[in-house]
Amino acid sequence: MVGIATGWEGSRRREELPPNWPTLRAQVIERDHGLCQWRMSDGSICAEDGTDVDHIRDRDDHRLRNLQLLCSWHHDRKTAREANAAKPRFSPRRPREIHPGLL
Ligand SMILES: [Zn+2]
Repeated sequence: MVGIATGWEGSRRREELPPNWPTLRAQVIERDHGLCQWRMSDGSICAEDGTDVDHIRDRDDHRLRNLQLLCSWHHDRKTAREANAAKPRFSPRRPREIHPGLL
């Protein structure tokens, strides 16, 4: 009898993920060759080691075409941007962070 993995405590999105998420996640990582798929302004991809599977648009759409692999940096940027878009922009100063790969 294999118990359900309990390594998810750190994720706030646990409830939103389907039971087969580990399988989907593995498929995305394989499809994206383990590389961050973030599109740079010149059309190339970031290609840092991908660690986070991201929902491209709808967070409730768990089909592979709505999923992409991102490095944790880009996933954080995207999540922050989405959070910012969801609420009024009052932040007086937003820290500008530079991608480690661009330094
Ligand atoms: Zn990246």
